[in-house]
Amino acid sequence: MKFSLLKWGLQRSKGHNRANFRTWENESRGGRPHAVVVGGGFAGASCASALTEAGVSVTLMEERPTLGGRACSFKDGVTKQDVDNGQHLFLGAYEDTRKFLSRLGVSHRIRFETDGRLPFVNRGGLWAELKPKFFSGNAGLAMGILSFRALSVKDRILLAWGLARARRTPTKRVAELTAAQWLSYLGQSPGTRRAFWDPLCLATLNDRPDQASAEALLTVLKKGLLAGRRKGALGFSTLALSRVWSMELGPYLQRTNGQIATRQKAVLFRSDQNRVTELETADGATVHADIFVSAVPMGEALNLLPSPLADIRHRMRGVGTSPIVAINFWFHTPPFREKMVGFLDMDIQWAFNRETLWGPTAAGQISVVISAAHEYESMTSTELIALTLADLRRAFPEFEEEPRHATVTWERLATPRPTPKFYRARPSVETPLENFFIAGDWVNVGLPPTIEAACRSGHRAAALALAYLKNRTKETVSC
Ligand SMILES: Cc1cc2nc3c(=O)[nH]c(=O)nc-3n(C[C@H](O)[C@H](O)[C@H](O)COP(=O)(O)OP(=O)(O)OC[C@H]3O[C@@H](n4cnc5c(N)ncnc54)[C@H](O)[C@@H]3O)c2cc1C
Repeated sequence: MKFSLLKWGLQRSKGHNRANFRTWENESRGGRPHAVVVGGGFAGASCASALTEAGVSVTLMEERPTLGGRACSFKDGVTKQDVDNGQHLFLGAYEDTRKFLSRLGVSHRIRFETDGRLPFVNRGGLWAELKPKFFSGNAGLAMGILSFRALSVKDRILLAWGLARARRTPTKRVAELTAAQWLSYLGQSPGTRRAFWDPLCLATLNDRPDQASAEALLTVLKKGLLAGRRKGALGFSTLALSRVWSMELGPYLQRTNGQIATRQKAVLFRSDQNRVTELETADGATVHADIFVSAVPMGEALNLLPSPLADIRHRMRGVGTSPIVAINFWFHTPPFREKMVGFLDMDIQWAFNRETLWGPTAAGQISVVISAAHEYESMTSTELIALTLADLRRAFPEFEEEPRHATVTWERLATPRPTPKFYRARPSVETPLENFFIAGDWVNVGLPPTIEAACRSGHRAAALALAYLKNRTKETVSC
């Protein structure tokens, strides 16, 4: 039973998939209810694992050959090293993410740094550090900012004052504003924008303050950076992303009555007025289940939605996505040893030393990131590599080494743009269809589109599904 789907997956490539889907679908599940979760990223994986933990039989359907979605890694063809599709940072405040990783027994693979320091460098090679005191309490906050040399003394005071006011601002009060409008209301200067707010907005929201919603930025501050040392701690994966959890999910689901169907593309959830009745797959199979969960990215989810939820498609019209590009280099002696460096007044925004993060398996690997990279989308890889190298040399004037190898990885649909419109339009996990739930980083769980939003929505979908199953059982018993 446990391996039936893997076997089915193999037979599928021989052209038997449709018949075998039915066989597998009808197999006994020992009286357990059955859920189909579509999408093998953080949202789908956290939902599927929470459901099997509670005794539901689950099929996790993923169109790609591997799990991980937008947080994944691959092998570089030349160096044979693992490379992430783009650096992913975690925050101590990512409670649902930690819960999901703990369920799989892999939470130790993310290292949280309560005492870490955040170095920045500018065009002339001048370094400034944001110190950890910044993240804890009002006094620490003020001290951390007052020693941040990337700002003039006047701007340090202005920033400390702005953050103190932000702490007291109710999130709903800024719901209609962009981050830039709110920052101007807080009296923030071009200096504080340049060295603090803009980098923060790009790193946490993947958008510029003139586009991003003020509510999103305020949430990042209140739930993360200003929520104390533990919640504000930055978390780094100690392994390539695919090694952190996606390879552990299969064995976990097998132990707990779940299964993974890779290379299976869902095309449409069909419903009557009250419930989803079946799911159609790209190769023509029809899947029946007690519960259905969509955990695919925004654009794809809007295509799959059953017709009674067409209004969601309508509301989300015009909400765009924001790209991220990662430029990876291999040097004999990289220009810095720090885990992470921020760049001020340059095209590049952050760079990560993968050898420092992952150890010798990533020897010499530096990953440079540009978020909200709309204006770079027409550049060739060669141009992007040249632009990045030029910035690295500006920041590290002594650094002359040519890279042994360089690659460019685009994630053109990296995240939904967290604009005020997006915040108003996005749906909640629960839908009017009693057995259908929507998970994913784009769904409204009170957070910007991040790993934590994905895991929280996955857990919420699982909790709602369990409540539905419990009610259904009660109704059957009372009949
Ligand atoms: C380069 C980059 C850097 C990022 N950095 C950070 C960061 O530092 N911190 C942070 O918190 N977040 C970061 N994010 C955002 C984070 O990766 C996402 O918010 C999160 O991974 C989304 O998870 P998800 O499960 O909602 O969606 P996804 O990860 O996209 O998973 C959806 C899955 O559904 C599958 N699928 C799609 N359509 C179908 C279909 N029709 N049938 C079957 N399967 C389907 C996809 O193949 C995919 O595996 C970053 C994103 C990118 C791209």
